[in-house]
Amino acid sequence: MRWLPLIVASIFSWWPGHHSVVTRPAPVIKSVLTTKKVVALTFDDGPTRTWTPKVLQVLKDNHVKATFFVIGQHATQRPEVLKQEIDSHMEIGSHGFQHLTLRNQSADAVKQEVQQNEALLTSLGVKKPTLYRLPGGSSDSVALKVLGQMGYKVIGWSVDTRDWRRRYTADQLVERVNKTVQPGAIIIFHDGPNSSQATVDAVKKLIPELKQEGYTFDTVGQMLKLEKFGPH
Ligand SMILES: [Zn+2]
Repeated sequence: MRWLPLIVASIFSWWPGHHSVVTRPAPVIKSVLTTKKVVALTFDDGPTRTWTPKVLQVLKDNHVKATFFVIGQHATQRPEVLKQEIDSHMEIGSHGFQHLTLRNQSADAVKQEVQQNEALLTSLGVKKPTLYRLPGGSSDSVALKVLGQMGYKVIGWSVDTRDWRRRYTADQLVERVNKTVQPGAIIIFHDGPNSSQATVDAVKKLIPELKQEGYTFDTVGQMLKLEKFGPH
C-alpha cells in the first residue's frame, strides 16, 4: 500500500476547499474580451490639486465614470481631492503607497506597499480597493502572487497615450487613442504631477468622438463583468 499516501494526496489536491493550493500569479489584465463597444478611461498617479479636479470636471460634464489609480502619498497630501473623486462616484484603484516598482522586491516589501495604501485609502473613505495598477507596468511572479493572494486584480492597459511625457499635444493624444481603440480597451492617462493641460483637453475631445463612433464608457471594474469567461 505504498501508493496509498499518493492517492490521498491527489484527492486532496483536487478537493475544491483545499487551501494549501499554491496561489498562481495574478494575470495582468490589459483589456476585456467583449464585442460590446465599451472602453474604460483610467488615470494614474493622482490625486493632484492642479489636474485631478479638471479631469473630474470633464468626466462629470460628459456623464462618464472612470477609474483612478491613486498613489497613497499623494492622497495623504490632498485628501480633499480624493474625496471629490469618491463624491463623483469614480472608481478608485490602488497604485501603491509610494509608487514602488514591484519588480525584484521581496514578498514582504510588496505586501507592505500594497497594504499601506489599502489602509490609507480605506481610512479616507474608499471601499477596499480590488484593482491594482503596477507602477511603470513592472512586476515579477513574486509581486503578482502577493497581489493575487491579497485579492487584487492587476490592471494593465491596451491603449497607452504616453501623456505623462508632456511632449504631445491634445490632438496627438486623441489620435493615438483613435488608432488603437477597440471594444474592451483600457486607456491610460495621468492626473499626477507629470500630467498637463494636454491630458485634460484630450479627454474633453476624445469622449464625444468615441461616443460618436458608438462607444460607451465604463469603469474597469464594471467592464470586467462583461467578460463571459473571466479575465484573461
Ligand atoms: Zn504611475
